[in-house]
Amino acid sequence: MTEDTKPPASSPSGDPYLLTPGPLTTSLSVKQAMLHDYGSRDATFIDLNARILERLVGIVNGEGGYVAVPLQGSGTFVVEAMIGNFVPADGKLLILINGAYGQRIKKICDYYGRNYIVQETPEDVPVNGVQLDAALDNDTSITHVVVVHCETTSGILNPLREISEVVARHRRSLLIDSMSAFGALPLDAGEIEFDAVVASSNKCLEGAPGMGFCVARESALEKAEGNSPSLVLDLYDQWRAMQKNRQWRFTPPTHVLLAFDQALTEYLEEGGVVGRGGRYRQNCELLVAGMRAMGFKTLLADELQAPIIVTFHMPTNPGFDFARFYDGLKDQGYVIYPGKLTVADSFRMGCIGRLGAEQIEGALEAVAGLLNDFGIDRIES
Ligand SMILES: *Cc1c(COP(=O)(O)O)cnc(C)c1O
Repeated sequence: MTEDTKPPASSPSGDPYLLTPGPLTTSLSVKQAMLHDYGSRDATFIDLNARILERLVGIVNGEGGYVAVPLQGSGTFVVEAMIGNFVPADGKLLILINGAYGQRIKKICDYYGRNYIVQETPEDVPVNGVQLDAALDNDTSITHVVVVHCETTSGILNPLREISEVVARHRRSLLIDSMSAFGALPLDAGEIEFDAVVASSNKCLEGAPGMGFCVARESALEKAEGNSPSLVLDLYDQWRAMQKNRQWRFTPPTHVLLAFDQALTEYLEEGGVVGRGGRYRQNCELLVAGMRAMGFKTLLADELQAPIIVTFHMPTNPGFDFARFYDGLKDQGYVIYPGKLTVADSFRMGCIGRLGAEQIEGALEAVAGLLNDFGIDRIES
């Protein structure tokens, strides 16, 4: 098929599909939900906020013991808020690192002057529960452990259940960055012990970017009073203020909240974590099978791969030019993402956002067409 007969793929809004770690493709109805200007004291808007927070607690089955607190900003804002609120100045955080988002938490601790130690595994190796167990045995001054659920740097799934069991056995507090997994991979407060998890409006929940949230054990949040070194990132204060008057402390991102409410309705209609996670898993399987059939190799073995984003080794064929590959895919309506690894030269293709089999197959067709243009029969890497 030539470009003359086949128009570029695009979403219903005419934009390219985003096969990236975020921002992500949203549905037309989510975008349309933003066509209103609400005042922050509007009763409809206030009810909508309450509904959003209730649904977020519901996603982790946290009714009764957990509360949700929203915050303006990108995902990192709420990661920073979680560290600043839950780890007190006299606490000590053990950071499990196997990628850039774990490294970012370390950087946050440096900014805040929080005590921490690091346990690091390579980017293609899950964080290690046995080593964690030993570290918690050896160092009783460690009060908190933080783990990244799916490390979006590589797309690796970390063993959350094992980590939470180890942390609970040692009676320490577990904090989770589930930014790229929340809503698509199971996280049930009845099965996994944790004090706080953070995620954002735009990733697997498919809202517009611009806000994050923390779902916290109420008793842990109560103890966080006065911990936050930052006013705007003070989750405890935001929670108390919203309990009092159901309003955000500072100008709320009203349009983002309108979109998020619609996105959560669509999430529940799709069947929650089972439906959403199922679609992403199918996207991931189609993508990996199709790319492997052309000779591309994944960084991760299938059992380590989360159905969120896939890292492929950079081809070594002399005719392969990544800049032309990237631009060629974009011209046909598919945006991919450069690699962020230190262990290997790579690129990434995401499975999340408003994408299904049709978009993955379209992207695979575009990849095949470009290899043909490059004169490559089979990818080597
Ligand atoms: C996307 C992401 C974040 C937040 O990134 P922002 O660019 O600040 O939205 C944090 N942690 C993980 C694991 C992520 O995937």
